[in-house]
Order: sequence, then structure tokens, then C-alpha cells
Amino acid sequence: MKIVVIGGGAAGMSAASKAKRISPDDDVEVIEGGSFVSYAECGIPYYLAGKFDDYKKLIHYPIDEFTKKRNINVRIKTKVMSIDLQNRVITTLDGDNIQFDKLVICTGASARKSKFSNFPNVFSVRNLDDAIRIKGENGGKDILVIGDGILGMELASEFAMNEKNVTLMSKHSYLFPKLDQNVVQEMIADFNSRVKVILNSEVKEITSANSKLQVQSDNYTVNVDSVFFTAGITPNTDFLKNSGIRIDKNGLIEVNSRMETNVDGVYAAGDCATSLNRITGRSEWQPLAQIANKMGRVAGSNASGKIMEFKGGLDTTLLKIFDYEVGLCGFNEKQAEENGFSPEWKIVSGKSRANYYDGGSKLMVKIVYDKNTLKLLGGQICSKDNGAWRLNTLETAIFAGMTTEDLFYNDLGYTPPFGPVWDPIIIAASLTMRD
Ligand SMILES: Cc1cc2nc3c(=O)[nH]c(=O)nc-3n(C[C@H](O)[C@H](O)[C@H](O)COP(=O)(O)OP(=O)(O)OC[C@H]3O[C@@H](n4cnc5c(N)ncnc54)[C@H](O)[C@@H]3O)c2cc1C
Repeated sequence: MKIVVIGGGAAGMSAASKAKRISPDDDVEVIEGGSFVSYAECGIPYYLAGKFDDYKKLIHYPIDEFTKKRNINVRIKTKVMSIDLQNRVITTLDGDNIQFDKLVICTGASARKSKFSNFPNVFSVRNLDDAIRIKGENGGKDILVIGDGILGMELASEFAMNEKNVTLMSKHSYLFPKLDQNVVQEMIADFNSRVKVILNSEVKEITSANSKLQVQSDNYTVNVDSVFFTAGITPNTDFLKNSGIRIDKNGLIEVNSRMETNVDGVYAAGDCATSLNRITGRSEWQPLAQIANKMGRVAGSNASGKIMEFKGGLDTTLLKIFDYEVGLCGFNEKQAEENGFSPEWKIVSGKSRANYYDGGSKLMVKIVYDKNTLKLLGGQICSKDNGAWRLNTLETAIFAGMTTEDLFYNDLGYTPPFGPVWDPIIIAASLTMRD
């Protein structure tokens, strides 16, 4: 049997590796449009900002690992243009036709383009080819980041820590609305002291003036050396239009928990496809690295005949903004209400370590739960110290379907260097039991 995987990113290489492991006799081939497979997209902000200069550090496995050791065929720089489901064949940009018995589509997503994308030193980044080109163009000292989502905040803080003069422009009336402002208040104050923040603003025009870019918004003019647009992503599924594979209104390939599309023997995984919400079981978009890897593995397994089910995700997002560990998972109160719950929430300002133990910091926790059942629905964290593990603890509790009472009794390890004896997440849980 021939299994073809389109896209050699997180989902695609996981799918190909799993398929080959399960069915060593199957012919598995990966078709990748870019120059690289199996690399860490998530490391790109640190590479761009100068934490390291060798892009090869981002590559998990060289191509030889797949072709020679795992016996998987890999074609790079080969873009798939169309799929003919009747004849089970895909056609590449160069006009090659590749036959398949089973197909796994893992084409990921692209950065949303702005109308200024073709302007020199106006960048948007989504893959390693982009990143190497951008790094080679030397973005200069004065940088404008547009957008205050995850990537915008990450890039702005990384550039600023590498001694760039950074301005961040957001269309929102307050910064980083993805998290509750009460949780991230201290981080935002710190951010504002290190990055020039322009709110309520959208770019209207970019022109060149005296070897700088002049960026005009409704009410501001900023002169910089380069501009990074981080205005969201769109799934790479245009080439599937009219193929017969069902695409939803957001351009995502519709899949079930086995990553099966509506077409027999055709699977999809990662950022180009819908994924399941762990709490509701409904389809949504969770364009994140771990989810892509897991969906890819499930797709590869099913394509080679061993049934696996994806159990859903919680959109768990962790990031580092300057010195802060920031994260969220599950629902905020608005999302909880939209999904039929009666949300209540608690926010606790605690300490990351025992008061008397050096190196601790303030730790903000928010938990969202259903007030009738006490079922945990969401969590948010912000702290300079030991925030990440607490977010992951909350995620594990939500994934397991725990109530706030279960969280309270959850037997977390304690020792002063890692937390107070009444940990902030236990305090948050205990507050819900008083109501
Ligand atoms: C800068 C950056 C930072 C990130 N940081 C984080 C983070 O900290 N945590 C986190 O969880 N997630 C993060 N992500 C998101 C994460 O990297 C993605 O969710 C994950 O890589 C998706 O995997 P994928 O396989 O679906 O897509 P990709 O890894 O993007 O792979 C898709 C591949 O398909 C190829 N392709 C597309 N169309 C075609 C075609 N027609 N023919 C052939 N090949 C094609 C592309 O070239 C690409 O290589 C980050 C992403 C970026 C860009």
C-alpha cells in the first residue's frame, strides 16, 4: 500500500513515522513544499531575535533520519497543487503525478498577509524558509510589531531583550486581551516599561523615507527599520477547493476523532484541520504544536490500519513574555457561557515559593468553573517563577474532568523552594467550596 503525506511539519512527520512503524512494508512518502521537514517552528522567535544564529539548531531530525533510517521517502520543494480523488492521484507544481492508496493532508497554516507584504523589510513569518530569509535581511534596530496575540507579544519581548527599540501596535483598546487583565496586570506594566505600546491603532500606510519605513496609522506615525505583521493565520487548504474533501467555513478540513475526512482513506491533521475540544467534544481550531503532533500520529496510525482516537485538546497555550511565564487553557467565562455552562471564576494573587525562600515572585491564578457542578473549565496563570507547571497542572485537572473540589484534594507535592504549603491553585479551588 502507498501512503502519501502532504506536508513535512509537526503533523506530517508524526503521521509518516507512525504509519511506517505500524506497517513497515507500506510505501510511505512525504511531499513537502518548503526546503525543510521536521523542525521547531516554535523556536523561530528566538532565532529571529538572536538567541542563537544557527537555524540548524531548529531541526529536530535531518532528512536522512527519515529516508535512510526510517525508510520513508521525502520530497522537499515540491508543492502539491491538486488532488484527484477519483484516480487517487496528486499533482505537484512541477506537473508530477503521484499515486496514493491512502492520503494524509498536513499542510498547516500560513501567516495572514497584509497589503504591505511585498514591501521591503515588512515581514510575516510562519516557516523556516521565511525565518532564514528575514534573518538574512537584517531588520535593523528599530522594529514595529503589529498585533498583540501570542506571536506578537513573544516577538516584541524577544526583540526588546536583544536590545532593539521595539514598538508594538494593537487595534485593541487594551494589550493582550487573550488573558484576563487582572491576571496579567503586572506583566503588562513591565511590558509597557520596555516596549512602546500603541493601542486602538491600525496601519493605514507604509512608505519609505530617509532609509526608514514610515508607518502611518489613524493617529500615529512611527519610523522604523522593519515591521513584523503578526495578524493571525489561515489554513493551507485553498488547493483542496472543488476536490470533494469537506472544508468548513473557516477553511479547515473537517475531521473526526480518527482524523478521517469525509472521503474514505483520506485523513487530515494539524493546523489545516479541525480538532476536538476536550470539554465539549465539538470541533474547533487549535493550531498548536503538541496537538498537531498528536493528531498526526493518530492520522498515520489509522492510515496504516491501527485504530487510534484523538481525545481532544484544551487550546493550552504557554508563552514567555520578558521574564513572565504566561498561560491559559480551556474556557474563559465568556466561552464557558457560550458553551452552555454557568460560569463562575476565582482569581488568586499568591506566591510562587514559600515567603521565606529566595527567588520567588508573585503568582496570579485564575480558574473558571461551572457553579452548579463545580466542574473545572479553564485556567490562566502569570508569574515570573514556576507559572508553567501550575498551568499544566490545571490543564491536567480539566483534561481529567475534575471538579474544583477534586483540585483542592489533589495531592500536589510541596517543598518551600517550589511553592507555599497552601499553593495558589489550591487556594483558588478552596475558594469555590465556600460559596
Ligand atoms: C513563530 C511560531 C511560533 C510558534 N510557537 C508555538 C508555541 O510556542 N507553542 C505551540 O504549541 N505552537 C506554536 N506554534 C504553532 C506550531 O508551530 C504549529 O501549530 C505546528 O507547527 C503545526 O504543525 P502542522 O504540521 O500542522 O503545520 P506545519 O508545521 O506548519 O507544517 C505544514 C507543512 O506543510 C507544507 N505545505 C503546505 N502546503 C503544501 C502543499 N500544497 N504542498 C506541499 N507541502 C505543503 C508547509 O511547507 C509546511 O512545512 C508556533 C508557530 C510559529 C510560526
